Amino acid sequence: MKKILIFIAILTLSFGAFSTPYISNAARDLVYQSSCKNPKTYKIGSIDNRYNMSESQFLSYVDEAAQIWNSEYPSTLFEYDPQGDIEINLVYDQRQFLNSQINELDTQVKSEQGELDTKIADYNRRAQEFQIIVKKLNEDIQYWNERGGAPPDEYESLIQRQKSVQSEAESLKSEAASLNQSTDIYNQQVGELNQTIRNFNEELKYKPEQGEYVYSGGKETINIYFDTSREELVHTLAHEFGHAIGIPHMENESAIMFSKTTTVTVLSADDRIALETACAEKNIVEERLQSIPQIFDQLRSNLAR
Ligand SMILES: [Zn+2]
Repeated sequence: MKKILIFIAILTLSFGAFSTPYISNAARDLVYQSSCKNPKTYKIGSIDNRYNMSESQFLSYVDEAAQIWNSEYPSTLFEYDPQGDIEINLVYDQRQFLNSQINELDTQVKSEQGELDTKIADYNRRAQEFQIIVKKLNEDIQYWNERGGAPPDEYESLIQRQKSVQSEAESLKSEAASLNQSTDIYNQQVGELNQTIRNFNEELKYKPEQGEYVYSGGKETINIYFDTSREELVHTLAHEFGHAIGIPHMENESAIMFSKTTTVTVLSADDRIALETACAEKNIVEERLQSIPQIFDQLRSNLAR
């Protein structure tokens, strides 16, 4: 019997709401509800220290991401609260590791390249000078030969110059060998860097989103996996906030809710439409009305008892 009364009460409320155009505000609030009525609160959870980011710095990025949505809605959607509902973490994983490795190798390769360029320029200068010295020596030898030989002191000087040219030739030869080796090492490092970049892209192919919003066991969490730039970090945070209010992915590349990571930090028209839909007041009675045929069936079976 109790069941029957409940069903009748629901029906009265339902039909009452729809047959009377002037329903009271209190009744209206009972019938229409928006999931964005109250702000969602967030707090900072853990930040992996390999990011070298302070909590206040991370929070400023999170606030910026929250503001992207807040500024497009009449009431506050997201609000910081140290005891907040959504915990936001900065997690270090393989992607961040590869990213650091690429930056490290890139710096190393650039510095090696700088050193190598200086060495090569130095070698070229010495080789050029060497050719001039050799040419001058040959001309002088030629000069004295044409005159049937050089006087003893001149002869001695020519011999000394010849020796010095020989030793410079040896030195240039070993320098060339060392430069060849350095160039090989350099090329090897470039190859290693390219391999790391390939690994990185491979890794990204499977996880194009740099964060995730998880709702599990009544607990809400946003995990951010890496930040390559300030824009990407803010974008990813705003994207995950979008999921937190129930907005799904969209195809539009300029949308915050596009499925891949970009540097977009402004809501697109599609994002705004999705926000309106997600925050629209839902008529909970209407949802019940849709199940009225089943309610009647149940009523009939209850009455029959
Ligand atoms: Zn997403």
